[in-house]
Amino acid sequence: AKAAGKGCFRFFAPEMHEAARERQRMESDLRVALEKGQLRVVFQPCVDASTEAVTGFEALIRWDHPEHGPVSPAQFIPLAEEIGLINEIGEWVLRTACVEAAKWPHNISVAVNLSPVQFKSHALPSTVRAILAEADLDATRLELEITEGVLLNNDQHVHDMIHALKAIGVKLALDDFGTGYSSLSYLLRVPFDKIKIDQSFVRGASDPASRNAVLIRAMVGLASDLKMQTTAEGVETQEELMLVRSLGCSLVQGYFFGKPMPVEEARELAAKGAVE
Ligand code: C2E
Ligand code: CA
Ligand code: CA
Ligand code: CA
Repeated sequence: AKAAGKGCFRFFAPEMHEAARERQRMESDLRVALEKGQLRVVFQPCVDASTEAVTGFEALIRWDHPEHGPVSPAQFIPLAEEIGLINEIGEWVLRTACVEAAKWPHNISVAVNLSPVQFKSHALPSTVRAILAEADLDATRLELEITEGVLLNNDQHVHDMIHALKAIGVKLALDDFGTGYSSLSYLLRVPFDKIKIDQSFVRGASDPASRNAVLIRAMVGLASDLKMQTTAEGVETQEELMLVRSLGCSLVQGYFFGKPMPVEEARELAAKGAVE
């Protein structure tokens, strides 16, 4: 058995080595991408569930790797977090999104995702304030999306940062609600303006008696009692839209209304105010 174990190790070793090298290449490629402007931001519309008017856009980062093609942010954001590049990337996304949003009609907002790692820097609130001033964007038009991961340790520093951000006047949304380590007590401790119901609850849901519908209804009820809005994420079909609307979600986002789109398209849609 020992020999076989050794054999296995020898067999896998070269591949592991290759994987480590590939990772190193991705790391340096990501640094180059940031420096050379190979990253871009796309915008996905968010619409009012009852009127279907566009209320805002979520900024999502994209990386088109010169050889590998598009790399998913689900892949390179964790890499950026590990190698200490996320603050720079996060700041770039925030600036790009705010500068773009300043060109939209004033009733249309922009949402930007923040990594939990960005909360470790004491500079986050002053960075946000400086970028809003530079972009000449009203703070109330910026929404910051954070995940429960930020709140996990009930860290005083994180709470101070969240209150400092609220003091600037920006909106706060709890992203991917219902997944991960959800604790309802976060909702009482943190002044969120909105919860975003994760797409895993929305996808395929059409029957009001289904378990997913029961859960969505409970989340919407909770949010409304706490004076928070709810966005249903990942709405792809008319059936899903009908269901989340009937369950009281105030806002919807998903491929049914629009995939994340390039700046020019988002600008046109923002000016029109409604998905056709
Ligand atoms: P997220 O913040 O939950 O963003 C929603 C994701 O769902 C996006 O994937 C979006 O393209 C996708 N999506 C939206 N509607 C639908 C739909 O109807 N169907 C399906 N199947 N998918 C839909 P994306 O852009 O690949 O981003 C993945 C994740 O990467 C994001 O999840 C977010 O956690 C992270 N991310 C993206 N951009 C940034 C960024 O600028 N900063 C940080 N820190 N994270 C980012
Ligand atoms: Ca998000
Ligand atoms: Ca989400
Ligand atoms: Ca997510």
